[in-house]
Amino acid sequence: MSATIRTTDPVTGQPLAEYEAWDTGRVEAAVERAPAAARAWARVPVNERATRVGHLATILREHKETLTHLAVSEMGKPIGEAEGEVGKSALTAEYYAEHGPGILADERVDIDGAEAWVAHEPVGLVLAVMPWNFPVWQVMRFAIPTLVAGNGVLLKHASNVTGSALALQDLFVEAGLPEHLVTALVIADSDVPDVTARLIEDDRVAAVTLTGSNRAGAAVGSAAGRAAKKSVLELGGSDAFMVLDDADVEVAAAAAVKARFTNSGQSCVCAKRFIVAAPVADAFTAAFVAAVEALRIGDPRARGTRIGPLARDDLRAAIQRQVEESVAAGARLLTGGKPLPGDGYFYQPTVLGDTGPGLPAFDEETFGPLAAIAVARDDEDAVRLANATPYGLGLSIWTADPSRGVALARRVTSGAAFVNAIVASDPRLPFGGTKRSGYGRELAASGIREFTNTRTYWVT
Ligand code: NDP
Repeated sequence: MSATIRTTDPVTGQPLAEYEAWDTGRVEAAVERAPAAARAWARVPVNERATRVGHLATILREHKETLTHLAVSEMGKPIGEAEGEVGKSALTAEYYAEHGPGILADERVDIDGAEAWVAHEPVGLVLAVMPWNFPVWQVMRFAIPTLVAGNGVLLKHASNVTGSALALQDLFVEAGLPEHLVTALVIADSDVPDVTARLIEDDRVAAVTLTGSNRAGAAVGSAAGRAAKKSVLELGGSDAFMVLDDADVEVAAAAAVKARFTNSGQSCVCAKRFIVAAPVADAFTAAFVAAVEALRIGDPRARGTRIGPLARDDLRAAIQRQVEESVAAGARLLTGGKPLPGDGYFYQPTVLGDTGPGLPAFDEETFGPLAAIAVARDDEDAVRLANATPYGLGLSIWTADPSRGVALARRVTSGAAFVNAIVASDPRLPFGGTKRSGYGRELAASGIREFTNTRTYWVT
């Protein structure tokens, strides 16, 4: 099984680096070492664990330039956004350093004749299968709380960001965490399904989490089900961005551009379906399309760039197919609609009008710079369209009347609802999906407790 992982610069399409993928023996050696490190870590008092994980904040900031450079070159993220990802990870380390011990503290329960409490104890070694779209944040969002909770981590990062995976592993050690507590597994992509399935079955692995596609989520979730192990799945999204008839159209359109085109459109919580009330549809569409046409596309290393390349050529081909099939099925191409000629995996920021259920741009997750607008007759129709998706991650509603927005939000199924704000994760609030967007939560108190044993004590 010894193979080579080759990473590619999406700006040029040229090779970036080569890594020797691990053979079975090397994977086994890593998995053999990891549980002892996790057990020893679990015995470290929670306050000390939190302090040491908190030190990651300093280390992340010290290495911001290296991590940013890796994200920009491995997956083409615009440089300012890559820096933001590192900063947010550092803030999350600080959040859990401060709040983790309190969230994990024993909870006393009043019971006559007994002393009883609920404890939140470590589960052991957790396998994390992570995606490339936020090479630092996706890992840190899971690993920081999971480590404070007293667990160890086996990290299977996406192959196209192998350099980031190895750099992150070093940072945990530099921050003062024990060797082998976090292990980045270097697995050739052809071996990934087998190796992850085997690891999930392995008695030394207690639980698994995956962020990525529904296809990979189904593979990991079913393996976890077969092994009767805990899993958390953070999968795709097709978030609705609802603009009501009383919304400030200019403000909503400016926010819509940010919501859709962050990370060149490659985020699970990017707004993807713009459901706009008929009376404001023309005004919103005009403002939105004008702002999209003003986005600067180009080299992600240049500070003024808003849209970089897509991370891989196959992801660009998927967007192209969704555009072509949607237009063939009746969508109106309002701007963009083509790959950029020349090197790299660039795709024009694209807006489709007249979309709705039955069109790929509306029904499927679109993971790139493609926005689908659908017009709603009234609030009832807007709720119907927002719910007409297999996904249920986030929701953003724009209105002059926040209470009307909240009332409508209650009728749409999603893991988060934002009124007059775009969907974003925040360490202080739980993050995760419903329907095919997955299950379980990351961040806040819910996230740190996902990989704990909620344990009952009764002492008489
Ligand atoms: P994948 O789901 O294939 O990749 C995510 C992670 O899962 C990677 O580490 C990958 O490894 C791993 N993986 C892939 N197949 C399996 C499997 N059978 N068993 C276990 N692990 C697996 O996503 P892609 O990169 O191919 O992106 C495809 C689509 O997925 C996107 O267009 C988007 O729709 C969605 N996606 C959603 C994300 C989110 O944030 N929710 C993030 C990324 C993608 P390897 O890289 O080595 O193949």
